[in-house]
Amino acid sequence: MSDGDLVLLAWSDYVGITRVRGLVSRIYPKRMTTGIGWAVAGQVLTPFDDLGPNPWGSMMEVRQVPVPETHRKIDIWSDAPPLEMVLCDARTLDGKQWECGTRAFYENALKDFREETGLEFMAAFEHEFQLLGVDGPDAPPFSIEHVRKVPHFMSDLARALNQADVDVESIEPEFGVNQFEVTTGPATGMAAADNPIIVREVIREVARRLGYRATFTPKPTPEAVGNGAHVHFSFLDQEGNNATYDPDGPGGASEVAQHFIAGVVKYLPALCAYMASSPVSYLRLGPHHWACGYASFGIQNREAGIRICPSADPSNQSRSFNLEVRAPDATASPYIVLGSLIRAGLQGIRDALPMPAAVEGDPSDLTEAQRSDMGIVALPGSLEEALAVLDADEVARSWMPELMYQCFVGVKQTEITLAKGLTDQDLCERYRNVY
Ligand code: GLU
Ligand code: MG
Repeated sequence: MSDGDLVLLAWSDYVGITRVRGLVSRIYPKRMTTGIGWAVAGQVLTPFDDLGPNPWGSMMEVRQVPVPETHRKIDIWSDAPPLEMVLCDARTLDGKQWECGTRAFYENALKDFREETGLEFMAAFEHEFQLLGVDGPDAPPFSIEHVRKVPHFMSDLARALNQADVDVESIEPEFGVNQFEVTTGPATGMAAADNPIIVREVIREVARRLGYRATFTPKPTPEAVGNGAHVHFSFLDQEGNNATYDPDGPGGASEVAQHFIAGVVKYLPALCAYMASSPVSYLRLGPHHWACGYASFGIQNREAGIRICPSADPSNQSRSFNLEVRAPDATASPYIVLGSLIRAGLQGIRDALPMPAAVEGDPSDLTEAQRSDMGIVALPGSLEEALAVLDADEVARSWMPELMYQCFVGVKQTEITLAKGLTDQDLCERYRNVY
C-alpha cells in the first residue's frame, strides 16, 4: 500500500483515549454516511484494556460515521506515511445519534446552551505535556536550552499543527523538565472539542517520529510538574460580539457570565469526576501548583477553580475577555469536559445564581472560617471522592443520559479498582505509559 492509503476513523471514549479503526482510502469516500461498525462495549474500556460493566456485551453495535470537517492529513514526513484521521459521530444502525457517545454528550449540551441563551460557545484548550526520551542534563525551565535541545520537535510540531489547521498560536517550554505547552486560538461549537483531540494526536505523532514519547498524563511522576488541560472560554452573541464581557459588570463579567461562573463554582466538586477523571488526576489537582484545589472564583488568580483571565489586549477587552477553568486534564475526553462545563454553567444561568466573591491568592492560605464565609469548598482528594460527590448530586448526574452515566461511572470504578494498592510511583507510571 502506498503512502496515505489508510484513513483512521477516530473517536474519543469515556477515558479520553482516541480509538480508531482504519479504512483504506479507496473505500473511505463510499463510507461518508455509513462509516464503520463498532461494538459499543469498547466504549467502556479502561485505559488498561479491561472492560467496565455494561449492558451491551457482544450484541450492541453502532456505526462510527465520519464528520467531514474534522478530516486531517498530516504529511510532513518523508520517512513515514501521512497521519490521516477523521473524527466520527456514533450513530445507531438506523442513522440516529447514539446518545451514549461522548461527541453526542457535548453536541446536546451545546444545543441546549444555544437554545436557552441564544449564544454561541467558544473555547480553547491549553495542552501541557512532557517529552520522554530526551537525553542529556535537564535544561532550566523556559530556557533556550529547553527548546533547542529538541529543535526538530519544535519546528516539526509548528509545521504539523499548521497543516492540521487548528489555529495554533504558541509552542513553548513549560515549567517542568522537558515539559511543553501548545496553545491554539478559540474555536466555536463542535470544533472547540474536536480540535484538542486532533492537536493531541498530532503532538504525539511528531514526538513519535523523532523517537520521543509525548505524555499528557496529569502527573508523570509524583514529584514532577503536572500537566493541565486548562480550558479558556467565552460566548458570542448573534452579532459576533463577546457576550461574556460587560465593562460595567464585576471584573468585566456580563450578567450571563456571572451566572455561568456561579454554576461552575457550585458544581466544580462534582465536575471533577468528569474533568479530572482518573485516579492519577488527584496527584495533580490540589493547592500550590496552579492546578486548583478549591471550588472558587478569582480574577487573574491561577489558584482559583475558575478565573477571569488577564486580557491579551487591554485596548480591546471585548474581544479578548475570557474565562478559564483549570481542573481539567487530558485523562478526560474534551467532549465530556466541555459538555459538563456547559451543563454546570447553564444550570447557574437557569437558577440565576449570583457570582461568588473573588478570592485573592491561594484559597488554602485562608482560614477554614474565611473559606466557609466565602462559600469556598475543597475539591475532592481522589477519584473515589469525586464520584461520591457526583453520585450524591441529582443535578450533575442527570447531565448524562442514565445509561451513559452508569457506564461512565462503571469504567471509572473499574479504574479505581485497578489502581488499588499501587504506590504513587507505580500509578504515575501506568498512566504515563498510556496518556
Ligand atoms: N502545570 C499546571 C497545571 O497542572 C499549570 C501551570 C500554568 O499555569 O501553566 O495545571
Ligand atoms: Mg501552562
